[in-house]
Amino acid sequence: MISFYPGPSQVYAKIPAFVKDAHRTGVLSMNHRSPECMNLVKRATAELKKKLHIHKSYTVLFLSSATECWEVIAQSLVQQTSLHIYNGAFGKKWFTYTQALKPDAISIPFDREKTLPVDNYKAEVLCITQNETSNGTQVNMETLRQLRKKNPDSLLAIDATSSMGGQALDFSLGDVWFASAQKCFGLPAGFAVMICSPRAVLRAQQIHECAHYNSLVHQLQFAEKFQTTHTPNVLAIYLLYRVFQELPSVRIVHKRLHQQAVAWYNLLETKTFNPLVANASVRSDTVVAVTGSPAQINRIKTKARKAGFLLGDGYGELKSSTFRIANFPAIKPADILSLMRFFEKI
Ligand SMILES: *Cc1c(COP(=O)(O)O)cnc(C)c1O
Repeated sequence: MISFYPGPSQVYAKIPAFVKDAHRTGVLSMNHRSPECMNLVKRATAELKKKLHIHKSYTVLFLSSATECWEVIAQSLVQQTSLHIYNGAFGKKWFTYTQALKPDAISIPFDREKTLPVDNYKAEVLCITQNETSNGTQVNMETLRQLRKKNPDSLLAIDATSSMGGQALDFSLGDVWFASAQKCFGLPAGFAVMICSPRAVLRAQQIHECAHYNSLVHQLQFAEKFQTTHTPNVLAIYLLYRVFQELPSVRIVHKRLHQQAVAWYNLLETKTFNPLVANASVRSDTVVAVTGSPAQINRIKTKARKAGFLLGDGYGELKSSTFRIANFPAIKPADILSLMRFFEKI
């Protein structure tokens, strides 16, 4: 079965071999305070920064999920209130989790057919879901640039869980970027990266929230010596290192994914079902959401499964009216062509 689920998604084909290497070379029982482990963290960080074009002044942290990143931002970077601008289920969930910690959090939902509304929001922290996995929309870099320009004093926190690793992101436009491993990174679940700008680091130090094991100031202190506050998922760090070592620049990866995405949307428009989002300029390059009647959706998912393809279910309130196709780098172009051929025939 070839999985096109947008998370947990198909992992890179070489993962089993890398896991074997990890076992053979002692990574699986490596002490997390040892020089070997610090060296591994250092190399993984360097590969990630190199392939994703992240400026050297930014700090890379390893966490366990995007959900943890949501909480860390709320507890360690928000004093009074954050402002959440979203158009789908993940952005809303981020707002809800934040509200539980910071009751003054504010939400601005927007229409998924529209570009994200840019204004001077006067917010401490602006929270944006750059790629909304639930409905297949994305916020482009130009919108982020305008948002930054209009809100020079706000920290910009960006959830790029289903685009980082596949889309060429301009990290200089945000202060906190994060993604978990089981989406566009093509790695096993239970691991996430969080990338902080010097401004975010400074803000964390000023606020100096220290009440949690994963308080940002603690994490930053440990990251300085390539360690973590607790025993981390060393295997995941190793797999990230091995995968990124072999990847080309994300700009090259993105070019391929973008062409594939255009091909997907063109193909799907000729079918009885349609891309969920009519406005091509806000459609995601990495998650293709397709809409149809619940009966149609059920039929196509069953038919695809029989042909050896696992399509992604709809998410949240779109569960029965959509299906999703992951357009992630770990999925082989040949497999994508097979699924396209399957769709062409129906
Ligand atoms: C999957 C997803 C999350 C949650 O990721 P976890 O690793 O399960 O915490 C958050 N945001 C977006 C945009 C996602 O796609």
